[in-house]
Amino acid sequence: MKKDKQYIIAFDQGTTSSRALLVDTDGQLCDIAQQEFKQIFPKPGWVEHDPAEIWSSQWAVFKKLIDKNKLNADQIVSIGITNQRETTVIWDRKTGQPIYNALVWQDKRTAPQCEVLKEKGLTDYVKEHTGLVIDSYFCATKIHWILENVNGAKAKAANGELCFGTIDTWLIWNLTKGKSHVTDHTNASRTMLFDIVKMDWDKKLLQELDIPESMLPSVQPSGSHFGDFEFEGVKIPINGVAGDQQAALFGQACFSPGLAKNTYGTGCFLLMNMGSKHVVSQNGLLTTLACSMNDQPVYALEGSIFIAGAAIQWLRDGIKIIKHASDTEQLAMESDKDEVVVVPAFAGLGTPYWDMYARGAIFGLTRDTGIPEIAKATLQSLAFQTKDVINAMMDDTNIKIKTLKVDGGACANNYLMQFQADILGAPVERPEIIETTAMGAAYLAGIVSGIWKIDDVDKNRKVEKLFKPNIDNKKRDSLYSQWTKGVQRVMNWNKK
Ligand code: ADP
Repeated sequence: MKKDKQYIIAFDQGTTSSRALLVDTDGQLCDIAQQEFKQIFPKPGWVEHDPAEIWSSQWAVFKKLIDKNKLNADQIVSIGITNQRETTVIWDRKTGQPIYNALVWQDKRTAPQCEVLKEKGLTDYVKEHTGLVIDSYFCATKIHWILENVNGAKAKAANGELCFGTIDTWLIWNLTKGKSHVTDHTNASRTMLFDIVKMDWDKKLLQELDIPESMLPSVQPSGSHFGDFEFEGVKIPINGVAGDQQAALFGQACFSPGLAKNTYGTGCFLLMNMGSKHVVSQNGLLTTLACSMNDQPVYALEGSIFIAGAAIQWLRDGIKIIKHASDTEQLAMESDKDEVVVVPAFAGLGTPYWDMYARGAIFGLTRDTGIPEIAKATLQSLAFQTKDVINAMMDDTNIKIKTLKVDGGACANNYLMQFQADILGAPVERPEIIETTAMGAAYLAGIVSGIWKIDDVDKNRKVEKLFKPNIDNKKRDSLYSQWTKGVQRVMNWNKK
């Protein structure tokens, strides 16, 4: 690496691994270092991470990137951070020691507390003020649980001795050696404690859950100065922070209202920028904060699909009909039939159905159904679920998506992307760099540092392939109605 070259480093702290990405001032991704860390499952439905390991793995990949590329500290202009959202850490303000493991977004232990909030009639209040549905997914009831269940925690919290943070906050605290206790708009909007209209912590919800405001971080725009990381005598500013899905929306240059991206990972997350308009969904979408460059809120609508790439994993590891996830592309192309429907409701159904009792099913089996048909129908289910979410967005906003920007592991699948375009009746755009999450964090940091202007995100972004719709309306309607019939039949399946 040339010693006069400058870089941004993006930290991408995900659910299963910590990564550090090196991005040059032309917006080129130069290198990636990655390290997995332990998933802790103490009881069914409980999911924890060791906060110390989150920090040590993030530190390790940063060092690996520096050493491998022989970088000097003064070559790093800024750090951007993107993170798994909602995962909750509480630590002692004086010692910096966590008082309990991090409760991961997937953790379901606080479902009973959520029922209590619902019984108190808070559903509409939570939706209007935080944009969210009452669910154990978010931080609020996780903070409550830790304070209730760790010896002495409540008293310490009341005394101002504890700090709460999402993973961005925890990393920044460690990077700045306890100088900054901060978060950004996007992460704050996933706590179920932040009023996304007033842009402040919600006093009523804090009171309901007995959470002292003193333990909460201060909230700032996603593109702003979060503190300095001192490394080898150089102060490196942390200038960009955003939760993973919002970072991807930014990295895909979805800056104006109506622009949307879909990430095809384990699940699918579809976000649409709504600009300054605060829309309360009537169709099971969440309202959340998108990346901001100043104090003005930028809103987004979000649809969550629980099982997407996970259904492909099930083909591989569950019923073992494929060896690699990518085998599905060839198999789907081998089949010329369209009679099979797979509804992968393994964990209920998310947007727009929100049916936790739904379970998966395969419909339309005949004697000539084979592995290609099942693989094809499973891939198609990702696209159908995405269409369901987009329909919900259209109902809420009256905006028709012109082009769907995609990213995430499964967007590499050409069959899936073509089918997505076909079933939506809209083009699907796959970028060259599908690391849009980390790129979003890098751009936030680079823009604040003066390396780029916001327009550069779009300018530097190269489209690798555009998939155009290629079926007629009749075929599209008949495929989609077959899917909706399947969904109707799995709903409430498991309800006693
Ligand atoms: P996450 O960030 O949620 O771990 P990734 O974005 O890394 O997910 O994507 C991995 C998911 O995508 C896996 O669930 C895998 O089954 C699926 N996947 C990866 N490659 C393909 C492919 N070529 N075709 C279909 N699915 C794929």
